[in-house]
Amino acid sequence: MRQLHHAVARLRARGRRVRPRVCHHRRMTDNETAEFDAPTNLFTAHLPIGETLPPPVDGIPFWDVCPYDGDVRIKVLEPPVLPEPPRHGEDPSACRCVTRPHEGVIWTDGAWTVTHSGEPTTIPMVMLNTAGHYDLADMPADLILQLGPMTQRIERAMLRLGGIGRVHTSRWGDGSAHFHQWFFGRPEGMMQLRGTCLPLWDDVLPNMPVDLWVGAMAAIGESLAADGGEAFPVQRA
Ligand SMILES: [Zn+2]
Repeated sequence: MRQLHHAVARLRARGRRVRPRVCHHRRMTDNETAEFDAPTNLFTAHLPIGETLPPPVDGIPFWDVCPYDGDVRIKVLEPPVLPEPPRHGEDPSACRCVTRPHEGVIWTDGAWTVTHSGEPTTIPMVMLNTAGHYDLADMPADLILQLGPMTQRIERAMLRLGGIGRVHTSRWGDGSAHFHQWFFGRPEGMMQLRGTCLPLWDDVLPNMPVDLWVGAMAAIGESLAADGGEAFPVQRA
């Protein structure tokens, strides 16, 4: 934070009006947002918004793990949208944890649920969710303490499927305000599927057969239940 204040001071010394959003500790009102245009955000001021960019030399499109080949174009970067549109579950009463709490659940211990994605996927893929309506920033301390052990339990359950070389996990929070953490099982030996491009490969490769997917999801649920909690039959969306 001290470095941020120094950066603000330097920009002010150059005569720029700076009102960094990161210094606000509360949600801004519409009136305040109207004053906060893109160039005043320290973290967007350097971005080439509206410009056409060349592909990066040796960037991800040229990595051996990237699923795409040939010429690529970079989309023109759009200006920030402020205030950001609401995510699913910003209103807790309309969140899936209230309206469809059992959907896709293959295991729960009352505090956590593990869910499948509704339909077969290319690779084994599950999601860890809190049973109650929390996001990471407001998750109670007792649940935060369980997050590490839960992450390890799910990785072990996926490795027990066999044929899985590595389990990857990611937590993005742009789609839903309810905490959810993804787990991906990379098939053993599929070295092109390594690393951060794995979800891109899942987008372009065919899904596994339904019976295989149902069996894998059930096996993950039962494997978790062996250490506590309860597994549920796999039901497609
Ligand atoms: Zn929720």
